[in-house]
Amino acid sequence: MKRAVNDCEPGALDDLEAQVHRDLMLTQHPNTAWMPTRTGPDGNPMLDVLIAGAGQGGLVLAHQLQRNSVDNILVVDRAAYGSEGVWTTYARMHTLRSPKDYTGPDLGLPSLTYIAWHQAKYGKDHWDALALIDKDDWNDYLLWYRRILKLPVQNETALTGIEPATDAPNGGLRLTLETPSGPRIVYARKLVLATGQDGTGQWWMPDFIRRLPPNLRAHAADEIDFAALKGKTVAVLGAGASAADNAACALEAGAATVTMYVRREKMQRIQPYRWLTFAGFLNHVRDLPDEWRWRFMSYIQGLRESIPQGTYDRMRAHPNFSIRMGCPWLDAKAMDDRVLITTPGGEVAADFIICGTGIDVDFSARPELAPFASKIATWSDRYTPPAEEADGRLGRFAYLDANGAFVEKSAGDAPWLADIHDFTIGATISLGPSGCSINGMKAAVPMLAASITRGLFRADAAHHWQSLLDYDTPVFEPASDDPLVTDGGI
Ligand SMILES: Cc1cc2nc3c(=O)[nH]c(=O)nc-3n(C[C@H](O)[C@H](O)[C@H](O)COP(=O)(O)OP(=O)(O)OC[C@H]3O[C@@H](n4cnc5c(N)ncnc54)[C@H](O)[C@@H]3O)c2cc1C
Repeated sequence: MKRAVNDCEPGALDDLEAQVHRDLMLTQHPNTAWMPTRTGPDGNPMLDVLIAGAGQGGLVLAHQLQRNSVDNILVVDRAAYGSEGVWTTYARMHTLRSPKDYTGPDLGLPSLTYIAWHQAKYGKDHWDALALIDKDDWNDYLLWYRRILKLPVQNETALTGIEPATDAPNGGLRLTLETPSGPRIVYARKLVLATGQDGTGQWWMPDFIRRLPPNLRAHAADEIDFAALKGKTVAVLGAGASAADNAACALEAGAATVTMYVRREKMQRIQPYRWLTFAGFLNHVRDLPDEWRWRFMSYIQGLRESIPQGTYDRMRAHPNFSIRMGCPWLDAKAMDDRVLITTPGGEVAADFIICGTGIDVDFSARPELAPFASKIATWSDRYTPPAEEADGRLGRFAYLDANGAFVEKSAGDAPWLADIHDFTIGATISLGPSGCSINGMKAAVPMLAASITRGLFRADAAHHWQSLLDYDTPVFEPASDDPLVTDGGI
């Protein structure tokens, strides 16, 4: 189905870019600059917002802030240009899992939608015939989005340290960035962690697998040399979409056998994220009391993601693929360059293991969060669910405030945490689907941007008051013979 750029309508992408700029101009109200300059202890203007992560969540938030005339922002990403996010790295499906007509990055501007970009690039017929969006096309769209909107992104720059800016007169954060030319300190009034799935923790695998030599095992999010699996016996732990994508890649690379081991007795066939894609839930789940947020989101997180049809078909196309349901792993040990896995039904041997076992929220596993990990309130600090809804894994998720910012565990211990907004998957128990997912973006990004601007505006109330008092722009010119002027009334 793929065609060369613009082979149907030459110049269509250029026309679309012009249309985007025209639409932005037509909808720019209110566009008055309103952010005061705050000087940091280094004598330079502080950033209003630093966004860590230039995946789709970070990019779209940056654009929403620009639309709110918050322009003194910077987006940093530790990845090289074009390799941000998941799409060209460990997302091993061919197409997006979400339906092709979900909007999000456009923030309501039709010309900025993926649909408009796709039709300009490949033509309307191609769009009409398309089942799901090619993941490389989605990545190209995000890079186009970033370029035409002139988003201020700095690649190969990692956020490695976060501290309160105790030496700044108006508070804020002192942030350490690791750049190709060495460490750099910047000051910012607000920080957003748009650092992805493992942004507040780490990819998880059972300890007995983590202890195995790295040449025998990988997480589904790791870089994997699939070509090296040719002729090998591969065991995959987990039954979610990513586990299945990795199984499909191993099969396509010529693995001798690939077996998926699943703890559950039945394969999950529904996709709970499809159910929750309605305006009421996306906009308001965050407004529910703890009891209901926990109930909904822990149930959804507990179900995990079903395997998409395309991935299922990719696996089933290979006769050397099998699934063992009701077969958890109890232990594993390395033996003669192979792995012996203990299951309730006995031992099985494999040459290589891939774990599609998701993430674990653990602030101490992230260098930028570790120094104050114990100060961040978690759900288990704030809410005790009924016994049948208890879940220790989800209890470690951050308990965020209504602005999506961290909350201090003990009052007064780290009030500056309120300047750090969590836009990773770790935000989901508090806020519902976050910037992490395309379906939630339309609701989540404007809400987060509004939370940030609310904090900035409130903190600057005295400045805005003085600005009002100083405001002296007349809206009419009096006639020279106006008695009000001659009598000194104006
Ligand atoms: C395999 C897979 C497939 C998915 N498919 C779909 C789908 O089809 N539809 C859908 O709606 N959702 C899907 N999702 C969920 C979601 O849309 C993606 O995870 C998406 O990439 C989330 O975007 P993000 O910007 O929040 O994070 P990411 O895209 O992961 O971007 C995070 C960025 O932060 C950077 N970063 C991390 N730490 C630092 C740091 N300390 N300093 C600087 N930069 C840092 C990373 O380099 C990365 O570029 C999928 C998720 C996965 C894992």
